[in-house]
Amino acid sequence: MAKKTVADIDIKGKKVLMRCDFNVPLDDDCNITSDDRIVKALPTIKAILDGGGALILMSHLGRPSGQRDDKLSLTPVARRLSELLGKDVVFADDCISDETKAKAAALSNGDCLLLENLRFHKAETIKDKAAKEDAQLRQAKDDFAKQLAGMADIYVDDAFGTAHRDNASMYTVPMVMEGKPRVIGFLIEKELKFLGDTLSDPERPFVAILGGAKVSDKIGVIENLIGKVDRIIIGGAMAYTFLKGRGKSIGQSLCENDFIDKGQALLEQAAEAECEVILPVDHHVVRELKSGVPYRTAVGDIDPGFAAVDIGSMASQAFRDKIVDAKTIVWNGPMGVFEIPPFDEGTKDIAMAVAEATDNGAISIVGGGDSAAAVKNLGLEDRISHISTGGGASLEFLEGKKFICLEILDEK
Ligand code: AMP
Repeated sequence: MAKKTVADIDIKGKKVLMRCDFNVPLDDDCNITSDDRIVKALPTIKAILDGGGALILMSHLGRPSGQRDDKLSLTPVARRLSELLGKDVVFADDCISDETKAKAAALSNGDCLLLENLRFHKAETIKDKAAKEDAQLRQAKDDFAKQLAGMADIYVDDAFGTAHRDNASMYTVPMVMEGKPRVIGFLIEKELKFLGDTLSDPERPFVAILGGAKVSDKIGVIENLIGKVDRIIIGGAMAYTFLKGRGKSIGQSLCENDFIDKGQALLEQAAEAECEVILPVDHHVVRELKSGVPYRTAVGDIDPGFAAVDIGSMASQAFRDKIVDAKTIVWNGPMGVFEIPPFDEGTKDIAMAVAEATDNGAISIVGGGDSAAAVKNLGLEDRISHISTGGGASLEFLEGKKFICLEILDEK
């Protein structure tokens, strides 16, 4: 069933506590290098302020390990948000101090307050499993959540990037606010629409493209997608664990030896489910990975002393042929070491093929920082249906995992 959003509830005159993902990249001088995550939260923020709510925003930034770290202050976010909104954003330099609570109480309708980094308090990241086993941790997590919850009449979650976790602000706060409206924002609504609705009833052919470094990270995804998708394309370093299992020589290419058997079992499972798995037939290989080194193309086996750093042009073409006629596509992970040109060629080719399929009517979903960055660098953002804001969260979604912090929010 669909979750209620801020559009489904009466906000006027209410104090609204909203969890955002303002985990923005910062340079050494604490300047924001991409405000993407702030911009993506604006539709929900504006809807609440325009709707006459008094808004209290909360987020984490980085991993400050439970204590104050000025380098991870949300002050730059308050400044940027204020510029983007064209109005003052009040800042509270601790998320639960008495002064902060007074600031929250003093907010008028249409005002906006941003709380300091939630992770300056250890309680934010206490896992629920640990809290269940340890009464002191439970108490600390509950106390922290109650102090946040006590400031508001309504809870809104619009932080998809952390939606797969059970942090206090994502899980315990809405639990404590039971009986009050607890809804999602427009960003999470969009993520659920694409990742949830589209994947539960996909138009076919449905193709998954997986790449990146580690098979072990994506075993769960592959397992969940076999039987759902028609084709799985596997590129990037993770392909070599599968190829070695098939008896190919992979030279010095990255390989997770502990996962070779599991990889072969997955290939068998896929064959039984009539899910086609496409692995690269050729590779760009180098003796040493650094910018500007000459590369060779290896077809089939890779010589000792060489490591694959990108898929070859035959693999690119074969992958492309399996992508362009697709009607639903999910893509997570680069096809090679795309950070070091020219080993970004395979990833670029795949991005182009996904964009072309989208032009032809496919729904395409790209998740994961690297593949999303590749799409953005190529200027293809407008030709992809949805770029997920949560790398880890979108992967867990594809694994079919439940997100408990979303499950407890109000149904329509
Ligand atoms: P992941 O975080 O698992 O999505 O992996 C992303 C990383 O995989 C990127 O940093 C890529 O450089 C790396 N990668 C992709 N293909 C290869 C490859 N053939 N050899 C080494 N690293 C790779």
